[in-house]
Amino acid sequence: MPFRGVDYYAIDSLLSEEERLVRDTFRRFVDEEVMPIIAGHFRDGTFPKHLIQRLGALGALGPSLQGYGCAGLGPVAYGLIMQELERGDSGVRSFASVQGSLAMYPIHTFGTEEQKRKYLPKMAAGELVGCFGLTEPDFGSNPQGMRTTARRVGQGWVLNGEKRWITNGGIADLAVVWARADEGAGSPRIRGFVVERGAKGFSTRDIHGKFSLRASVTSELVFEDCQVPESALLPGTDGLKSALQVLDQARFGISFGVVGAAMACYEEALSYAKERVQFSRPIAGYQLVQAKLVDMLEKITNAQLLAWRLGRLKEAGQARAQQTSLAKRHNVRIALEVARTARDVLGANGVTDEYQAGRHMCNLESVFTYEGTDHIHTLVLGQDITGLNAFT
Ligand code: FAD
Repeated sequence: MPFRGVDYYAIDSLLSEEERLVRDTFRRFVDEEVMPIIAGHFRDGTFPKHLIQRLGALGALGPSLQGYGCAGLGPVAYGLIMQELERGDSGVRSFASVQGSLAMYPIHTFGTEEQKRKYLPKMAAGELVGCFGLTEPDFGSNPQGMRTTARRVGQGWVLNGEKRWITNGGIADLAVVWARADEGAGSPRIRGFVVERGAKGFSTRDIHGKFSLRASVTSELVFEDCQVPESALLPGTDGLKSALQVLDQARFGISFGVVGAAMACYEEALSYAKERVQFSRPIAGYQLVQAKLVDMLEKITNAQLLAWRLGRLKEAGQARAQQTSLAKRHNVRIALEVARTARDVLGANGVTDEYQAGRHMCNLESVFTYEGTDHIHTLVLGQDITGLNAFT
């Protein structure tokens, strides 16, 4: 059955015609091309690679970037694409987020004209896949401590170190990698590099055994005296703040994306509850079940309004990173709660992959942790409102 969406507060009427059109295009795409295959990929632990070029053709890769084959859409349209993709699966949305926001955006923002021309049109089309390597085995929430280094040697750089938990790593043609760059003068500063697959000393290893984001590739990136030319450096990058600026883009998309996962869970629980008869009537007729459904709807409505408002602030150039933190923190929390409640309403059926809620619930555990854990966003907001740093 086609997905109808959840819109208790007529939020549709706050969207432009173009935004609704984009949303509906991706809603159809997910109904027709993602839903029929996603449970199988989740079960097998594989990413549906055949969707990559379809996502490119539909304009889902770097949709809010200008030029270089990108769609140049506004932030709300971009957010709605993420919402629809995550309604299918967080793994599919993660692919698009990483490609567009974590790999293409830094090239677009910090790269040379030559780098942009070389990579962006092919990445927008899905002909080249990118990944973003910031996290290391010993440095997740605290990337400032990273050990990966880049040393200037002759006309290029030599990278050494290891990145872990990198989405798309094993299927990427290029990695945007953050390293402590020793430029010969002054103390090393964190800078971004584009490392192409095939660069000498660069290898990837996929991470298996995940119970979350199973339909997504997660990998380690290993750099052993990896030699890259001078042109690999993203010259506009200047310290960790550049990497954080990149993450802010993806967090914005997550704020919308997880609403899609929550909507899918709510819709599934609602229709199940109306049909499932226990004792004398459908379980939807019992007060305790109604309270759960109402809680879900209320949470989704709050999250939709928060995401929409953040989008409009971003459009006006007024969104602060802390506001994105609040939306990421709130919306991922509620999506996880909605997924868990939906799983409960489905009873035993909720623990099988015949239904979606369990898959979304497991996926959202990763989303809770990546792009700044729930705690880290709490600390960002705590610092913003008190002026006091509670990180260390
Ligand atoms: P830690 O930082 O060790 O945190 C463990 C716990 O301690 C958390 O609950 C955390 O909130 C808490 N904690 C840490 N510091 C504090 C503090 N000061 N105060 C209170 N609590 C604290 N990274 C990339 O670079 N690129 C990717 O593409 C990418 N994709 C990912 C995909 C998946 C499926 C997953 C699971 C992760 C991915 N990550 C990626 C990594 C992700 O960003 C990190 O896992 C995340 O930043 C948390 O780091 P950590 O796992 O090392 O946890």
